Amino acid sequence: MVSLNDVLRARRVLDPHLPATPSWSYPLLDEVAGRRVVVKHENAQPTGAFKVRGALNLMAGLDAGETVVTYSTGNHARSIAYAARAFGVPAHVVMPAGAAEFKIRAVRALGATVTLHGANMAEAEAHAEAHARTVGGRLVSPGDEPAVIAGVGTAYLELFERHPDLDTVVVPVGSGTGAAAACVVAAAVAPGCRVVGVQSSAAPAAHDSWRSGACVRRDNRTRVDGLATGRGFELPQKILRDLLADFVLVDDDAIDDARQVLSGSAHTQAEGAGAAALAAVLARPDLMGERVAVILTGGNATPAELSR
Ligand SMILES: *Cc1c(COP(=O)(O)O)cnc(C)c1O
Repeated sequence: MVSLNDVLRARRVLDPHLPATPSWSYPLLDEVAGRRVVVKHENAQPTGAFKVRGALNLMAGLDAGETVVTYSTGNHARSIAYAARAFGVPAHVVMPAGAAEFKIRAVRALGATVTLHGANMAEAEAHAEAHARTVGGRLVSPGDEPAVIAGVGTAYLELFERHPDLDTVVVPVGSGTGAAAACVVAAAVAPGCRVVGVQSSAAPAAHDSWRSGACVRRDNRTRVDGLATGRGFELPQKILRDLLADFVLVDDDAIDDARQVLSGSAHTQAEGAGAAALAAVLARPDLMGERVAVILTGGNATPAELSR
């Protein structure tokens, strides 16, 4: 499926594009959490989120002349647009008709073509599929892409090299590429470290898929963008089934609280999805061990999040 070698190859691909992101501890945060917490700052990426790693690795593997089509309103769209620009690949992003203006602008500013279509993400997905068939473009899935998982895995190589003694790494889950990548890398280079996933209780599709052993659909009522998926994805779920140690749910209010803790104790801005790992540590200290890393997956807080 995806091996450590794939992640090592991705690191060579990403090296000219992205420096390693910092990972720090903060005494005040450690005090609040009652243990040492390492924060891996993927909010320091040029797109504000970790997904750019996977998108760059995917783009590097395309054949000459290929174009890409995808669907997303958030960080997936931004990362595809950023990586497409870096490799000179034409990119087309379909967003639901009601997508927020600032999200559309962020993707257009990176040079991608944006089409607004459909009442929700499922309709945007169907339109993107049809468009990809029509123009002969490569449809990029937000979850079922081995090159994306391998690219995202480079974050975990960086983390375990700097912090080889971690008991637990906590990863926010939407489609599951980040958590699957963490599992692949931890199993190979930090086998003593447990990987724990976290999702919003208001959109538990990946959690319920992992618990039941089959990809299921669930209502998606979370206000946390990066975790808002309505279904489990096959490839990450296969990896998680073998390697994930545990999977917890936190509610959206706890995620808001964790954003505030990161702002007050670690002087850093997280979007909701980016704070979910800390929310899990604060909610379930019993599961975490003494030395914990949280992946601050993104910092693109919405205007609504910022005003809350
Ligand atoms: C996409 C995203 C996630 C979830 O990652 P998956 O790989 O889809 O599980 C978490 N946090 C942020 C900020 C994201 O953009």
